[in-house]
Amino acid sequence: MNKQRVFVVGVTGGIGSGKTTICREFAALGAPVIDTDQVARDVVAPGSPGLAAVVAAFGPEVLTADGQLDRRRVRQLVFATPALREQLEAILHPLIRQETDARVQAAGFPYCLVCIPLLVERGGGNRVNRVLVIDCPTEVQIARVMARDELTAPEVAAIMRTQASREDRLAAAHDVLENTGDVSLLRPRISALHARYLQLAKEGAA
Ligand code: ATP
Repeated sequence: MNKQRVFVVGVTGGIGSGKTTICREFAALGAPVIDTDQVARDVVAPGSPGLAAVVAAFGPEVLTADGQLDRRRVRQLVFATPALREQLEAILHPLIRQETDARVQAAGFPYCLVCIPLLVERGGGNRVNRVLVIDCPTEVQIARVMARDELTAPEVAAIMRTQASREDRLAAAHDVLENTGDVSLLRPRISALHARYLQLAKEGAA
């Protein structure tokens, strides 16, 4: 992920832990944020080589009438056949990696936050210089996702079971930001982390 010396902080956390919310706070301090979910959407935008590769592998049935990738259809296909999931990932993962690298290099800042929801699950820790885990109690996570996505508690719990445990995620962390109370109360800690990452980037470049 790091041809030149951009210090990369991988931000991760379970569903609804507050990755997006916290990244926004870092962005307000001037830190570039790359959201790999957004990159994953961009690499299959209409007209992209990524979309062409997916259509070549899965057929035109994965396109909507207006030429977008039909994500629901793709989800159904890969859910029914695990080999297709592997095939899809073999197409998309290198493209997502390449595009993320390009954005890191183009960020023009000593360090860069890369939000990777499944960093721990996919063993992505070795592709970043530091891992920042956004953590909050499971009950808070469930309540937030229920409110945001209009899901029931069992539905949120089912998603959480497909993700790393809180313990495994915390074990992979260099830094942990506990996102419980009001976000404004976290700003001093976020500023301190920002200063630390600038310092680490400087030391790395020396
Ligand atoms: P996902 O994994 O689903 O993409 P996420 O980790 O990016 O989620 P957010 O979208 O930032 O999480 O937060 C989930 C929900 O909780 C949002 O509705 C957000 O506004 C709310 N939220 C996040 N942090 C706090 C906080 N400290 N206090 C109150 N609400 C919060």
